[in-house]
Amino acid sequence: MSLSFSRLSAYRTCPRQFEYEYIKKLPRQIRAGESFGSSVHNTLKKWGEREIAVSGKRQAGIDQLRLFTQEDSAHHLPLAVETLLEFWHSSFIVEGYGTRVEADMARLRGEEIMQYFFDWWQQREHDVLFVEKGFSLAVDGQKITGRLDRVEKVEGGLKIIDYKTSAVRSQNQADADLQLSVYALACEQSLKQPCSELSFLFLSEEGVTEVVTARTAGQLQDAAKQIRLLEECITSGDFRPTPGREVCRCCPYSNVCDVAAV
Ligand code: SF4
Repeated sequence: MSLSFSRLSAYRTCPRQFEYEYIKKLPRQIRAGESFGSSVHNTLKKWGEREIAVSGKRQAGIDQLRLFTQEDSAHHLPLAVETLLEFWHSSFIVEGYGTRVEADMARLRGEEIMQYFFDWWQQREHDVLFVEKGFSLAVDGQKITGRLDRVEKVEGGLKIIDYKTSAVRSQNQADADLQLSVYALACEQSLKQPCSELSFLFLSEEGVTEVVTARTAGQLQDAAKQIRLLEECITSGDFRPTPGREVCRCCPYSNVCDVAAV
């Protein structure tokens, strides 16, 4: 069985939620948080593609952020905050919100977040190699697929950045996070380069918080064990629910689940 990391993640969130979504394939409505997260990811994908398009044509100095190629000129897409905001508005997904007012508020919130992202982005040079880069790797014979939000070249290897619109996680949480371990494996197996840094980039109206970590060979072996255990649980059909106030509050199946903690 081929597993995407998002499936593994869903199983870890709650096995019954996984069962509803991937085994029973129950229909569900997109939630506001998911919709907003997709809008942010789509925007930053376009931004990263633009960075890649203009890379090699940058010049040192104050004009750097305003430089654009002849092709860009035709589309009026310099690497400027106005472009980022244009990407935000063209990427904004209106589905998932209860009312038009909620959607409008989310759109404004996103504008604020994009300003913060741009401030973060301006702080240093970025050598972006890939955005939304698909990968496929084998962990003890188990095929795992997924997608890397952003891959930058840094000293000694690559830096994998994952965008988050959820609550900020601690350094300890990032250090032990399975998703980032899978990304480190993907970097080495799929992109064939050492993974120097792994980063969660938390984006909210309070600002941008980056939590950076790395992985040792021992941690990657532990991650492979965790993946194997998860795969065994899934193939054995163990879908016992793990209700909790937080997880059930965000669950799209809370209205059909008889043990929902809401
Ligand atoms: S409502 Fe809670 S227990 Fe039920 S499937 Fe969703 S997350 Fe699991």
